[in-house]
Amino acid sequence: MNKSDSERIAGILSHFGYEETDNEKDAELLIINTCSIRQLSADKAYSQLGVWGKRKKTNPNIKIAICGCVAQQDKEGIKKRAPYVDLIFGTHNIYELPSLIKRIENDEKVCAITNTPVVCDQNDFEIKRKDSVNAWIPIIEGCNNFCTYCVVPFTRGRERSRRPEEIIKEAQNIVKEGFKEITLLGQNVDSYGKDFEDKNITLANLLRQLNSIDGEFRVRFVTSYPSDITDDLINAVDECDKVCKYFHIPMQSGNSHILEEMNRHYTKAQYYEIVEKIRKRFPDVAITSDFIAGFPGETEEEFQDTLEAMEELELDYSNTAAYSPRVFTKAGKMTDKFLPEDVKYERLNRLNEKNREVCLKSNEKFIGRILKVLIESKTEKDGKTILNSRADNNKIVHFEDSTKNIGDFANVKITKAQTWCLYGEPV
Ligand code: SF4
Repeated sequence: MNKSDSERIAGILSHFGYEETDNEKDAELLIINTCSIRQLSADKAYSQLGVWGKRKKTNPNIKIAICGCVAQQDKEGIKKRAPYVDLIFGTHNIYELPSLIKRIENDEKVCAITNTPVVCDQNDFEIKRKDSVNAWIPIIEGCNNFCTYCVVPFTRGRERSRRPEEIIKEAQNIVKEGFKEITLLGQNVDSYGKDFEDKNITLANLLRQLNSIDGEFRVRFVTSYPSDITDDLINAVDECDKVCKYFHIPMQSGNSHILEEMNRHYTKAQYYEIVEKIRKRFPDVAITSDFIAGFPGETEEEFQDTLEAMEELELDYSNTAAYSPRVFTKAGKMTDKFLPEDVKYERLNRLNEKNREVCLKSNEKFIGRILKVLIESKTEKDGKTILNSRADNNKIVHFEDSTKNIGDFANVKITKAQTWCLYGEPV
């Protein structure tokens, strides 16, 4: 979502005469778009501001801006720790940028943080997409779930869906421009449309509409909330040949008590049922997940359930993290239950080890199979051109083929599996 926001910010800036530079040292305006999902990301943002602050001492004409979730949640902290920052703007204020930039150009210090979005038609601005193959489309922003560890409802606000007509128009333009993959984004993507009165506006129906756009391209959607995956959504994925057979469904913990403590609205058994249902319908599907190690109060036995779930569910890949307390959240206040850092990181190491094991197993299943892939980039190695591609089920596949280019689809026979990727040959 942040990368997508950055592309929108770059588009707005180019509309007002700014050009992107490859060399940061040439920049007259420096913007850092921040993430606060874990403390480490927030710390990195402050450290980058520190570097830019030193540069501003030698070149006071430089303007420095910070946006994203750290800006949204910690404007006072930024003013105190980095008083040289010219502009702080929140996740809801991106489309106010043209007027904000004018104000800092007039040497004003500006802080624009609102708790509700500044409304605009997003199609009014060009989007400077970084990638030439995949294009992101945010379809819903914010979250109503309030998982006890998560800061997103506080930084991105409540769920707000974009109108389907606006999304379809953006998708049609993307396809016309030659992009081959569209990724629909939402913190809770399967909640799409729930905030509209028209109950026909759902993710399933949006996928059906996107599928009917002419052209050779494919569609993904992330991130799904386990208990929000409806039968209609599964049916739509099945019906739509352009929609990838891939689901990213964070489980977070394999233990029902911890899930309750996290305020996740499903049990371990219900998560298993969802995975089984999807696997039954799409035998080649890839299901990826997210897990937190060392949630406050998690016992060793409860953590063992997470390891077991990762293995039993044969998850294709998982993002993992040690629990990181976040301001405003309920879990962040459970200080008496916090686990020592060494316990959290020791569990994270075991979780990562299990992740590697199950990923390799998942990849080995594809040896000898033919996968349809989309070529995303090329690497020159030892005089050979290696094509780096992604299969419909999100597996990364490397192969050699001098006849193909970035953005082409290809059929590849898988010959070798490693933990994070597959190797193959064109067929
Ligand atoms: S569903 Fe996701 S974004 Fe929403 S509160 Fe939970 S973890 Fe955060």
